[in-house]
Amino acid sequence: MAVLGATGSIGTATIDVVTQLNRVDPDFRWHVSAASGHKNTRLLAELASGLDQPPDRIVLSDHRQGDGLAAEETQLRELGCQIEFGADALVSAASDKSVDVVVAAIVGRAGLESTMAAVESGKRVALANKETLVVAGPVVSRACEQSGAELLPVDSEHSAIFQCIQAAASKPKKLILTASGGPFRNWSREQMEGATLESALAHPTWQMGPKITIDSATMINKALEVIEARWLFGLPAEAIEVVVHPQSIIHSMVEFEDSSVIAQLSPPDMRLPIQYALTYPRRLPCPCPDFDRTQPWDLTLEPADTERFPALELGFEVAAAGGTAGAVLNAANEEAVGLFLTGKIRFTDIVLGCRDVLENHSHESNPPLNRLLELDRWARRELKKRFGFS
Ligand code: NAD
Ligand code: MG
Repeated sequence: MAVLGATGSIGTATIDVVTQLNRVDPDFRWHVSAASGHKNTRLLAELASGLDQPPDRIVLSDHRQGDGLAAEETQLRELGCQIEFGADALVSAASDKSVDVVVAAIVGRAGLESTMAAVESGKRVALANKETLVVAGPVVSRACEQSGAELLPVDSEHSAIFQCIQAAASKPKKLILTASGGPFRNWSREQMEGATLESALAHPTWQMGPKITIDSATMINKALEVIEARWLFGLPAEAIEVVVHPQSIIHSMVEFEDSSVIAQLSPPDMRLPIQYALTYPRRLPCPCPDFDRTQPWDLTLEPADTERFPALELGFEVAAAGGTAGAVLNAANEEAVGLFLTGKIRFTDIVLGCRDVLENHSHESNPPLNRLLELDRWARRELKKRFGFS
């Protein structure tokens, strides 16, 4: 397998899952033959040396040959790893003939080319990198059909939906995505206007990378997930709903033709959906904990508040519009999150900026990939201009 984005929250959880799988299921050996990291070479060297069998190939995507990485580079070479540099090496790792499964765990549009390469090479793709589907859902779906790639969701909501559909062995009528509501679930708009970076990064139920943590606070994450669900499961936007479930134990639900609803429950721990994407259709012991059923516990569901969280409407609009809308929304959001993370704009500006850029773009319904990438660059420039940056 290749783990792209191995140094991130999903990447390190994947390494944990694989290490455990090799213990519980010794007849079937997982070998991380390629692993990538962007900047954190020290962690990459640590991960490589912790594996039973070190990767054959390490990709340092933010480095060029000759960058001064002396200590870690020596350590990796001593482990027998071949080191490759730059974004092109991600594509070649994702399409390597010896790789069966690619874990796409790079954050943002930066994961698109390698995820596409894995899909075009007909791999099993364990997809965490939802932004690729948001930007280019129809292009990815077509490529899957042509190559026979298996696109299996790692996102917990989509894994839940996938599991519910498997369990029911029926066609879904409605997909009901749950959302924790994030750290500002009970905040007013006025309070959110003054939200600090620290409060936005304090997610109540999930430990994740900074970009998706901010996306969860604005609820753009749920908007991206509505779009992700639209392309993964092939249902129209009208068949998708969002409900707020603060405990993050019901990961999502599916309603069937007879109005029966099936849900998937587990503690909030990404190792379960990661493992299921790897071992599907098999179920094996997983390192995530059981939830405590010896105490009374509540599972609550509440309607999503689109007035306080206008990001949600963006998700449904973009899922319905398709075409170029996803690429524009995703790029505007990535830029806006970057500006918020560096203290340049207010929290509530993120979604306002996304809405403006989306409304300023003239929609095209059937764009090829290169047009989507052009619009990605355009939307980033527009978003920055809107806030007086260039
Ligand atoms: P993270 O920030 O913890 O890790 C990101 C990984 O991508 C790191 O390995 C980093 O080195 C690499 N990376 C960053 N920029 C890069 C670039 N320009 N080129 C190549 N590599 C780059 O992020 P994460 O929380 O692990 O999220 C990864 C993906 O999984 C995102 O798409 C996110 O939406 C999705 N996801 C994450 C979670 C979660 O619990 N963390 C849950 C669901 C979905
Ligand atoms: Mg999710």
